[in-house]
Amino acid sequence: MSAITIEKIEKTFGATPVLRDVSLKIADGEFLTLLGPSGCGKSTLLRILAGLEVQTGGSISIGDRVVDGVRPKRRDVAMVFQSYALYPHMTVAQNMALPLRMRRLSAWQRLSMVGGLLPGTKPVSAEIELDVMRTAKALGIGHLLARKPGQLSGGQRQRVAVGRAMVREPAVFLMDEPLSNLDAKLRVQMRAEIKELHNRLGVTFVYVTHDQSEAMTMSDRVAVMLDGELLQVAPPQEIYDDPDDRRVAEFIGSPK
Ligand code: ADP
Ligand code: MG
Repeated sequence: MSAITIEKIEKTFGATPVLRDVSLKIADGEFLTLLGPSGCGKSTLLRILAGLEVQTGGSISIGDRVVDGVRPKRRDVAMVFQSYALYPHMTVAQNMALPLRMRRLSAWQRLSMVGGLLPGTKPVSAEIELDVMRTAKALGIGHLLARKPGQLSGGQRQRVAVGRAMVREPAVFLMDEPLSNLDAKLRVQMRAEIKELHNRLGVTFVYVTHDQSEAMTMSDRVAVMLDGELLQVAPPQEIYDDPDDRRVAEFIGSPK
């Protein structure tokens, strides 16, 4: 069973090809990392998976469903961005509750509560509050729920961003360089936390990084990307020991 099937994805911005014939099957529960230098097309591919960007050609399936043209919220994926993308005027609790509130309310309720998203205007429902609290505790940010993002450290903000993805209980986590804004020590600690999260939830992770050691330590398989192409998809050790081509070897710095 394959959680995600990426078939012959092409993407051009104007006349510039950014993704070329990208095909990849990701297994259910796998931790797959897209590894490549800045500008090679990693974020574009992840955004296409999330439905935030539309491919020029090719097709994406998630589970048994072709999701081409399906809106991001209906894809059963949650994305964590490098920049955290938290709302500065909302508390941690409100930021984390946002996707749940949107999902659990009927369309009519959603319409009637516009404005309720502003701080202090409407309490979140008890059930949602409980979910948010449980998740926040699991991530060690239970004591920060009433703060605003501006009052948090980088690591705490990062945990809030992960927490907001978690409360949706998605089948697939998409993470775009989630650790690159953190200092080196915290980065190593957060690697372990994300791995722990993956083990605990057992769902599929597609993780993007340009950091080789991150990719090598965290992944079941690594997909090496250069200039919009996937050059090799294999377990970390194999990429290192047996690079398929000179460009992979050069990028990885292995002997071949
Ligand atoms: P990565 O995440 O690997 O650094 P990106 O997917 O962000 O790479 O970008 C790949 C290429 O596509 C880059 O050359 C970038 O400038 C270009 N690109 C990305 N988004 C856009 C866009 N919205 N419009 C035009 N060019 C873009
Ligand atoms: Mg990127």
